Amino acid sequence: MTVPRLEIDLDKLRHNARTLVDRLGARGVAVTAVTKGTLGSAAIAIELLRAGVHGLGDSRVENIEALRGAGITAPITLIRSPVPSQVERVVAHAEVSVNTEPVVLELLSAAAVRQGRTHGVILMVELGDLREGILPADLEGVVRLTAGLPALRLAGIGANLACQSGVVPDGRNMAELSALVTMVERTTGVAVDVVSGGNSASLDWAFGATELGRVNDLRLGEAILLGREALHRRPVEGLHTDAFTFVAEVIESQIKPSLPWGDIAENAFGVAPTVRDRGEVRQAILAAGIQDVDVAGLTPPAGIEILGASSDHLVIDTGVTPVAVGAEVRFGVDYAALLRAMTSPFVAKVPALTGCTRPAATAAR
Ligand SMILES: *Cc1c(COP(=O)(O)O)cnc(C)c1O
Repeated sequence: MTVPRLEIDLDKLRHNARTLVDRLGARGVAVTAVTKGTLGSAAIAIELLRAGVHGLGDSRVENIEALRGAGITAPITLIRSPVPSQVERVVAHAEVSVNTEPVVLELLSAAAVRQGRTHGVILMVELGDLREGILPADLEGVVRLTAGLPALRLAGIGANLACQSGVVPDGRNMAELSALVTMVERTTGVAVDVVSGGNSASLDWAFGATELGRVNDLRLGEAILLGREALHRRPVEGLHTDAFTFVAEVIESQIKPSLPWGDIAENAFGVAPTVRDRGEVRQAILAAGIQDVDVAGLTPPAGIEILGASSDHLVIDTGVTPVAVGAEVRFGVDYAALLRAMTSPFVAKVPALTGCTRPAATAAR
């Protein structure tokens, strides 16, 4: 099979999505599955929709267009504020977009009028993480503006934490979100249907809080794709953390000293490497590099250590195991490694149905 490649276990992804849909559904929360880590893969989107997610969310209009081009008709939300020069494409392909800027709302409205469509708007509120969001004091005015523009509909109010500053979703900021929603409904008379409370960093709160207030939607990417919450990257009980595997092929395998010789300056990427002397090591080179994957986000098999990488070479210490030229080595991925591998044209994407449903740890129970 072609290398480097990213193997995608569709059954594990569907299991992850269905588990989250069921558990959050029991708490009155719908799941919007965030596909931005998957480059608009229709094969993946189809499994997430089969699992019962409420809709899809993606940050890039290009990915949304790819999903539409592949025949996906489910509701899709653009989860990054629309690029002003792309509003026509946003209105044409996404039912809903998240917004914070009055000028963009006006552009969306004009585009929707031109296309004879109604476009939904989720207004994002700033709750302290200092990425996207309308300051709470300004929310009421922007709700009134949205409700007053032709061809726009207020689809909901949302918030995003733990992305820019690592602010933890908790009872206090989530209660503030609910209170803002109720206040704005009262003062403007505009009903707020969807309250989109956050991302995979919100799972601890969503499973642990005694009450979730008005929050009835979460936008989940990493938890579905990699089975982890996003505050401490802990595995979520009952989910697969290995739905994606990065595979590369060995092009050199030799016993070499662990210490370089000669005067040492910067390496290919401007770093002066530090190495410890471990005597002679079994060193192998894989035909993959930083234009294929974020090497810091790879988890090698037990007994193998990553020594370094440049654009096209990934150097590993294979420990006690000799690894032949032509052999394949398999790695787990984190979100950054997944994103780079999905977006690299050099990496083949190989989705497969493996028949694997429950993770080994819970299958026995
Ligand atoms: C990326 C993103 C998400 C999904 O985040 P995960 O941590 O992958 O669940 C949700 N909302 C917004 C606004 C995002 O940008």
